[in-house]
Amino acid sequence: MNNAKRIGIIGGGFAGLTAGYRLADAGYQVSVYEAQPELGGQAATFPVEGNRLEIFYHHIFTSDQHIVALMGELGIADELQWIPSKMGYFHGGKVYDFVTPLDLLRFTPLSFVDRLRCGLLTLYLQRTADGERFRPVTATQWLRRMAGDRAYRVLFESPLRGKFGDQKDEVSMMWFWGKVRLRAGSRQAGMTKEVLGYPRGSFQIVTDALAAAIRARGGQVMTEAPVERIVAEGGRALGLRVAGQPDVARFDKIIATVPSPVFLQIAPELPEAYAARLRWVRYQTALCLVLKMTRSLSRIYWLNISDPQVPFVAAIEHTNYIPPENYGGYRLLYLSNYLARTHRYCAMSKKELLAEYTPALRRINPEFDPSWVLESWLFRDDAGQPIVTCDYAEHIPDHRTPVPDLYLANTTQIYPEDRGTNYSVRLGNQIAALVREDIARESAS
Ligand SMILES: Cc1cc2nc3c(=O)[nH]c(=O)nc-3n(C[C@H](O)[C@H](O)[C@H](O)COP(=O)(O)OP(=O)(O)OC[C@H]3O[C@@H](n4cnc5c(N)ncnc54)[C@H](O)[C@@H]3O)c2cc1C
Repeated sequence: MNNAKRIGIIGGGFAGLTAGYRLADAGYQVSVYEAQPELGGQAATFPVEGNRLEIFYHHIFTSDQHIVALMGELGIADELQWIPSKMGYFHGGKVYDFVTPLDLLRFTPLSFVDRLRCGLLTLYLQRTADGERFRPVTATQWLRRMAGDRAYRVLFESPLRGKFGDQKDEVSMMWFWGKVRLRAGSRQAGMTKEVLGYPRGSFQIVTDALAAAIRARGGQVMTEAPVERIVAEGGRALGLRVAGQPDVARFDKIIATVPSPVFLQIAPELPEAYAARLRWVRYQTALCLVLKMTRSLSRIYWLNISDPQVPFVAAIEHTNYIPPENYGGYRLLYLSNYLARTHRYCAMSKKELLAEYTPALRRINPEFDPSWVLESWLFRDDAGQPIVTCDYAEHIPDHRTPVPDLYLANTTQIYPEDRGTNYSVRLGNQIAALVREDIARESAS
């Protein structure tokens, strides 16, 4: 009886596809609707020199057990490579290695006492198992107080600005603590290097395997199928109106994995208390300029920018992590920003943005010349990063919405961890379990 239930899923990113796979595997009739031509959401890819590359830079940490387990289940565990990575800081016109405790001790922009203090502080954060005490205080306040003003400005402000731009001072220390704990997990191998995970052939292989697994279990996965409206009748969600389809597709349960502002647009009327939670969350826009170049900008994979004259927050040279031979020998560089949606950069073309960034690229590598750039791409997501303030947890909307048979599973509900593919897989697992639980209860009553 259960197996006849139809489940409609809005969004073909990691949360939607994982939920779809779990429910199809449990015997339900699953239909996934993705608005874009490609599946994968924020981890979608595009073709580069006979390979695929993520629209936004991607890797996983050794602590990302949910996605690792999923890849095992899908039979693609062997495709996950764990590769040493090079992290660095750009400060005062110089590139510094920044992976090991020794790198911190060698980091001359800070006094020896400051370096020691930052090292002890990082160790304290790594060893603190319960971050609850960090929730009510902002990361800026806590780090400034504990590390001192200079160390805060040189070392800690950059990763905060890197994710939250001019909203950085509102971010809870709980978020920062979570990041430090996560990174510690990837550095355990003798503390001499950090390894990060990347699937051979890009994250596309995970997306493809999920879609194939849903289809193999009788489900449907549709792209270029934007949901325009979640249809309700008698207060219950019962179907989806999809662009270009004449009839409402009817379902027993509907799961939305879209950002909260999109959900608000397509959802049936929601009680004010729930709608207010959806409206409360603010996001930073992720803006990434990707360059295909003949030469390398630096020797570092992930270069944090701690320099007010550089107008992007990180320079991530993918080919310093995955060798350029995989991409016809070219160098691939992401220039990353997180900005308010109204920032002038968000209205620029890729050409204008490259012109804006060029002086900074020369600052990092004085030999840089725009002629190195053979091709470029610009990607943007207005729901790039929820801003995790101190009172964030009080405003997280429930997965079960007040509209019966309608569920929400999006990145705003990932807390206290930072959003990531691993946590969207966990979200997909959780929402599938919740839906199954509800179906089982309803069938029993
Ligand atoms: C710049 C950047 C860098 C990142 N780096 C990493 C990293 O290194 N490692 C990592 O693990 N994670 C990283 N992430 C995060 C990770 O990609 C996301 O957490 C994860 O992919 C989110 O998956 P999701 O399914 O929850 O949401 P999304 O990927 O946002 O999926 C939602 C889907 O819904 C679709 N949709 C929207 N509206 C509609 C509609 N009306 N009808 C149908 N479909 C619709 C969207 O097109 C999208 O595909 C990064 C994210 C960004 C922005």
